[in-house]
Amino acid sequence: MAQEPRPLVAGNWKMNGLTASRSELEAIIAGAATLPDTVDLMVCPPATLIASFAEAAAGSRIVIGAQDCHAAVSGAFTGDLSAEMLKDVGAVAVIVGHSERRALHGETDAMVREKAMAARRAGLTAILCVGETRDERDAGATIARIERQLDGSLPDRLDGLVIAYEPVWAIGSGLTPTPKDVGDVHGMIRNYLISKDKAAGSGTRILYGGSVKPQNAKELMSVPHVNGALVGGASLKADDFLAIAAAYA
Ligand code: PEP
Repeated sequence: MAQEPRPLVAGNWKMNGLTASRSELEAIIAGAATLPDTVDLMVCPPATLIASFAEAAAGSRIVIGAQDCHAAVSGAFTGDLSAEMLKDVGAVAVIVGHSERRALHGETDAMVREKAMAARRAGLTAILCVGETRDERDAGATIARIERQLDGSLPDRLDGLVIAYEPVWAIGSGLTPTPKDVGDVHGMIRNYLISKDKAAGSGTRILYGGSVKPQNAKELMSVPHVNGALVGGASLKADDFLAIAAAYA
């Protein structure tokens, strides 16, 4: 197997966190300084906290990401934020196509692709999420579903891209696929990426996301072609987030 990329553990805080949450970030920063330098670490707070978190994290091991962006640079899009705006306040990455945005905001693969392209235009890493529903898994349609999402939402170039495989039914449910099932999907994604661009496709990180906890992190992170985690609920507590990152210690 070719050399796999350096792992990344990213926390998706979703719509959680107030200015007082800076103390949790400070605990993450302090704990991260004691971990071996074998993993990259990112926190994606709500957009309201990006600027202050980026300031607090400057010079530390933690980088700050955003959870969504609009595809345009600027314009009449009330309430939206462009990738350039996120970069301007200190984000280095943005999650695009999270299943909550696909399901609750009607985001299509084509929209997700535009957002991923916007991220690269602004100089941000795009963390592009794909994943099957429970019904699709039960119908044996997982691989076909992920392939369709990749066909529809991958940007034209793979540089500056991270893929997150997040089974919809595993998010926030406490359920996870078996390591074999995770390995099957990650292996397929790796092959797909390599078929698009051999060099960039071998170096693209493929994260697993969906109910990653300190208790299951080591097992999930040891699966071939798993290059880290996208962590929701467990990323809100410094101790849990750091314990997950320590799977790479
Ligand atoms: C997520 O929403 O990206 C996620 C992985 O959530 P959780 O870890 O809470 O399942």
